Amino acid sequence: MDILTHTLSGVAVGTVAAGFSDYGQQNKLKIILLSGFGGALPDIDAISLWSGFDSTIGNFFNLSVSGKEIYSSKFWYSHHAFTHSLIAGLLFAVSIGIISYLIETIFKISKSKSLINSINKNKVMIIGFFLGFVIHLIEDMPTPASTWGGINFFWPSKSYIGGTGDIWWWNNYDIFLIVVLVIFLNIILIIIKRYINFNLKKLTVGVFIIGFTIALIQIKTRDFDFAYVGHAKNYQQFENKSKQIQKDILGDRLYKIMESFDNKLKIYF
Ligand SMILES: [Zn+2]
Repeated sequence: MDILTHTLSGVAVGTVAAGFSDYGQQNKLKIILLSGFGGALPDIDAISLWSGFDSTIGNFFNLSVSGKEIYSSKFWYSHHAFTHSLIAGLLFAVSIGIISYLIETIFKISKSKSLINSINKNKVMIIGFFLGFVIHLIEDMPTPASTWGGINFFWPSKSYIGGTGDIWWWNNYDIFLIVVLVIFLNIILIIIKRYINFNLKKLTVGVFIIGFTIALIQIKTRDFDFAYVGHAKNYQQFENKSKQIQKDILGDRLYKIMESFDNKLKIYF
């Protein structure tokens, strides 16, 4: 799935996590942003596609294969490998906890006496980040198997899961819009909670579950099979079909708006 929807899905998770924070609005915003970062982070492994990769990182680690080959291979540092695993999510989450503690200590921001004390205080933020990371992994599962056969969710196990091809790599505007709606509704709830007393946790979780369920239905009811293994022979046909599906779902007007937004973006969306 595209990086924008991934990042915003992390943000959506963050709007739920923020409801569990006992601290102020600033802390809630931090939770939301960090969860969005968690939603983007797994795709850091696409760095091997960067034009300067071979002459810099590749050269430094003395890699014998090019970044382009690494990307579609099944090395632990290839795309959909280690950084698309639960363990990576846990390690990054612990790192966030340690970095927060160091920042608090160095800049004397808070009175956390120990690392454990600091992690405990920041637990909602750390869990939000982790769940933002995990939602990215879940979203990658219904994309095609391609050269990997899914994602290496249970790394260091060699098995790859997902790769079902229910959806195309991008052009999933309907899913994007559902994610944006979840964020919008939950942020409204967080804001009005300041003025009206109600159970914020229950409502934001409810909005998220409804959004997740609708997205799942959308993913599972595409009347086309995008599944392929290796390199796609009919790539253009898949690309066109994914756009046609969006046109059918969204209607001409909304589709045109989304398409022009897509054309403005420099990323695959
Ligand atoms: Zn990914």
